[in-house]
Amino acid sequence: MELIIASNNEGKVAEYKDILEPYGFEVFSQSEKGINIEVAETGSTFEENALLKARAVFDLTGGCVLSDDAGLIVEALNGEPGIYSARYKGLETEKERREAILKQLENKDNRTARFECCICFIDEYGKTNLFKGVWNGRIAFEEEGTNGFGYDSIFISEDSNGKTTASLPISFKETFSHRAKAVKQLMEYMNMVHNSKKRDKL
Ligand code: IMP
Repeated sequence: MELIIASNNEGKVAEYKDILEPYGFEVFSQSEKGINIEVAETGSTFEENALLKARAVFDLTGGCVLSDDAGLIVEALNGEPGIYSARYKGLETEKERREAILKQLENKDNRTARFECCICFIDEYGKTNLFKGVWNGRIAFEEEGTNGFGYDSIFISEDSNGKTTASLPISFKETFSHRAKAVKQLMEYMNMVHNSKKRDKL
């Protein structure tokens, strides 16, 4: 069965191809299917934005769709950058966005933060499923490490012995991250559906 990833990020699409093809899905990017839309992320939560992106593609195609939305939530900044993580304060580069967070936390004791990821999967009947992963941690006092992307060099997760994510091997995220946790739930769901379809055929 065909499945479209509601994203124009080729790296993300490749990652989901590896995950979903074993379940019998033929995975396509939006562009491979000629879908030329950039959905405005006007929701107020990761769930709403993931849903908006998946629903827009489902409405056009009527087939299976998967989307995701993720970001960093900093407690002392009232949850910012949150859904604005990719475009925080309109700053151009990831470095500027990281520096903006460090600067605002300079006089704050509370450095608690978390990453959240929400995956939305719409099946061939239009049934919507949401899977959410949370990764707790805190914001470092300064940048450290060069692995990863985004806020990895200022995020110290609760399971990393005080090291920023960017100073650990990339494989660390494959086990512990918000995205890994959401993907795990997605795979458990896919296993369940796959097994019940197999039973129905017997
Ligand atoms: P997206 O929804 O997965 O594209 O994530 C939106 C933004 O959140 C990214 O541009 C990053 O700034 C930030 N972000 C999401 N996941 C991560 C992560 O695993 N590490 C660092 N930053 C992340």
